Order: sequence, then C-alpha cells, then structure tokens
Amino acid sequence: MQKQRTGDLKLIQELNRSIILDTIRKNEPISRSEIAKLINISPTTVTSAVSDLISEGLVFEDGVGTSSGGRKPVLLRFNPNTHSIIGVSVTNTYIKIADMNLEGEILRKEVHSTNQLKGNAIIQFILSVIEGFLVGKSDVEYCQGISIITPGIVDAEKGVILHNVKLNLYNVPLKELIEERTNLPAFLDNDANAFVLAENYFGLFSRFNDLLYITIGEGVGSGLMVNGSIYRGFLGSSGEIGHTTVVDGGIKCSCGNSGCLENYVNWPAIYSKIVTAIITRNKDTIIKEMVLGDLTKLSPAIFVEAVNQQDDLAKEIMEDILKYLSIAITNAIHLFNPEVIILSGEIIQDNPLLVESINEQVVAKVIPTLKEKVNIQSTSLGIEFELLGAAALILHGKFKFQM
Ligand SMILES: [Zn+2]
Repeated sequence: MQKQRTGDLKLIQELNRSIILDTIRKNEPISRSEIAKLINISPTTVTSAVSDLISEGLVFEDGVGTSSGGRKPVLLRFNPNTHSIIGVSVTNTYIKIADMNLEGEILRKEVHSTNQLKGNAIIQFILSVIEGFLVGKSDVEYCQGISIITPGIVDAEKGVILHNVKLNLYNVPLKELIEERTNLPAFLDNDANAFVLAENYFGLFSRFNDLLYITIGEGVGSGLMVNGSIYRGFLGSSGEIGHTTVVDGGIKCSCGNSGCLENYVNWPAIYSKIVTAIITRNKDTIIKEMVLGDLTKLSPAIFVEAVNQQDDLAKEIMEDILKYLSIAITNAIHLFNPEVIILSGEIIQDNPLLVESINEQVVAKVIPTLKEKVNIQSTSLGIEFELLGAAALILHGKFKFQM
C-alpha cells in the first residue's frame, strides 16, 4: 500500500512539473505566484517544482516584474536550449534524422537513402543511422529521447510497427530496439498522426480541436485529431484513408483489395499516367520539354509546374486526382465532421489551384448543412514537416506540452 502511495505521489509530482513547465513556456515571462494562480496549484508546490526545473536547466530566472505591494516578483522563462531531442522520419525512400531543441529548431540534420532495404535489413540500417548520429553528438546526457515516425500501422503505446507493406515490416518492436541500442527513451508513431500534432503544435492550426490531415506522397495517409486528441481506433489503424475504396473493382492495391484511393492519386500513379500518355498515346505536352526528353527527370514539382502552365495533359490528370480525392474527403467529412482538413505532399506544395478546386468539388458533394463550413487548406509546416512531426510527438508525449 505504502509503495502504491509513493508511486502515486511521484506521478502527481511529475504531472505538476509538466503542467508548470508548460505554463511557463506559454506565458513567459511569468512569476511563481502568477503560475500558482493560473493553474490553481499551491505556491509551495510551484516553488519546489520550479527549483527542480531551474537546476535541470529547463527554466531560468530573468528579471523582475511589477509589484502589487511588497517585493517585486522574479520572472521565469522556459529554456529550450539546454536539452535536446532527436527526431527521425523513416519513409520508403529515405531516413531523415535531426538534433533539435525543445522548440523543434533543427541544430544538425542528416538524410540517408534507404537503398531499397526492407524487412530486418531496414531495421538494422535505421539503428545504425541513429547510433552513428549519436556518435557525433557531444551532449548526449542532455538528450531527452528519440522520436521516430513512419508510415503504416503503428501501436504507439507499445512502440511497435504492426504493419508496413512497402518496407515489409510486421510486428517490429522498434521502440524497444532503439532503447536497447541507445539507452535513451524512444517514442514511435505513425507519421500522419505526428503531422496532425505538429500542425496543431507548431503550425497555424493551434486553435482547432477537430482536424483531419491528409498526406499524399508515395502512399496516402491521414491523421485525425478529435477533440484535441489523436484518434487511433481499436488497433491503431485509423486514418488509412489511402485504402478507402473509390472505384469498385478498380486497380489492384498492395493491401490486397482493389480500387483504393492511393492508387489513383499517389505519385507513382501520376507518373505512370504521364509516361503512358507520352509513350503510347504520343500525347503532346510541355512536360516533354520540361524534362528535356528524359522521363526519369519527371518529378512532382514538374507536374505541378505543368498544371500551373495550363498544360492539357497535366490538367487532365489533375482532374482525375480531384475527382477521387474529393470523393474520399467528402466521405471523411460526413463521417468525422472535422473543422479543417489539411493537405500535404509534393503535389499539394505550391499548388493553390488544386486546393481551391478540391474545396469547390467537396462543397458540391457534401450535405447542405456543411457546404458553408468546408475548410480545406494546405499544410502550414513547410519543408521540414517530417522532423517537426517527430518533435511534436516527443514534446507532447514526454513533456505533455499542450498546444
Ligand atoms: Zn489498398
């Protein structure tokens, strides 16, 4: 019984500490008594937690405030720079790893190709990349942990990759493997779940509690925030919007089903449509000139540029993407009623025309009550969205920072 009570007490102390740190971060500069009033915790508890936070270098004293009679209060600020976090983003083609401060600012970064490794080979490669990166880090003792994000179905609580067809990973306890190898706490989550946290945390969407984030790359994934929390579903597989059926009996999918959204809107689908049109239909398009006759140079950015230049082929393909994407988004709106839908991915980047057209098509499809409320926007995270996703995951998971 005694042990249980000591455990509870420690938990409460840690929770108080997190809340106090988060309060300082959001309201700095702030005095101890203001913190106590703001979050309704006793001044003694605040004083003791703050002295711990100061000795750990997470908080520092900075000047004095105005007095309401009596001594002028000492003001406190959050220090994001003493401690650091390591963010890792694993995609099917590359691994990004970065050392970041507690505000997600990147201090050092490396990008490694996955060299088409799969299964155990890719896991061993991820571990060696992390290990190598730590060798170059002089202040490992101040590292608060490693945050890793990856596509596919992930059990975030246990830190296990349950299912990733493209990397051939099934039931891999990656969190445990990283912790064993590095002696640092590790956090694992699905990438789209991390992105929705990051949009809410670092991006322009902090005032929203119900968000749907859709990322379109090689695959199509989504993250859903319901009432301020990530919605994971029973087995953690929620958000597989890329495998929602948009064509009955359509293209065969890697998941075993057919007609899944991702095979109509992802980059491999767009790429093969362009190549087929040029080679088999001998279609006239400015894309041919843009790649200087070399179709291996074809990239999402070139496709978007061709759309913006009103190229017929690019526009025709974009119409198809719009059609399927608007069906899937309309279904998601009817199921979840998010306040905002955020789109990301290379074909969304610098493509305001697509975002505008999607809004129009979805407005045309949704039920009347929702027509005025459709709000589809492009990501606010910029090019380092993956690392910001990893950072948001650990800041939210470990420090319990709230948006
Ligand atoms: Zn599928």
